[in-house]
Amino acid sequence: MDFLIATHNMKKRAELERILSPLGINVKTADELGIDLTDVEETGTTFEENAKLKADSGCKESGMPCIADDSGLMVDALDGAPGVYSARFAGDHGNDEKNNDKLLDCLKNVPDDKRTAKYVACVCCVFPDGREFTVRGECHGKIGYERKGTNGFGYDPLFYIDGRAFAEYTPEEKDKVSHRGNALRLFAEEVKKYI
Ligand code: IMP
Repeated sequence: MDFLIATHNMKKRAELERILSPLGINVKTADELGIDLTDVEETGTTFEENAKLKADSGCKESGMPCIADDSGLMVDALDGAPGVYSARFAGDHGNDEKNNDKLLDCLKNVPDDKRTAKYVACVCCVFPDGREFTVRGECHGKIGYERKGTNGFGYDPLFYIDGRAFAEYTPEEKDKVSHRGNALRLFAEEVKKYI
């Protein structure tokens, strides 16, 4: 069964494919299907809302079941910021360097035991007949004092679990514990009820 995935991010595509292809689910991007998807404005205040906005729009425009995700970092000492604004924390959309600089700056006077944080990923699936479901995965860690590692993306050089930054994890190690890995494993369980 073919599912449209509402992302241009090839790393996310690969993660989805690794976890869903054993279930007989083929994920295709809009580019691969030759569809021109409207870029949805992420106006929601929760990850769930934004994932649903994207999945709804993709399903409507393609007439196919559509999977969309929304994710981000929530830092306890910042009352859950940057949250749904993770990609644009420092202003420009997707500028990881500036976002990480801003994060370090915001936490410069925060002691070790108060630097706890979590990554959250919500994945929503909408079917043309109106059925839909959303799953949420989390992953808990701490914000370090300096960048470490070169793997991953986003805040991974500053997000530490057990003393190692996520950017020092291999992709396979990250999948096992990550918010997106956890959400996709829940997704794989749930989607079986719909196909
Ligand atoms: P989106 O889900 O593509 O909108 O991503 C939101 C933002 O959250 C990204 O641009 C990153 O800044 C951050 N983020 C989400 N997941 C991760 C991750 O696995 N590692 C690092 N940063 C992430």
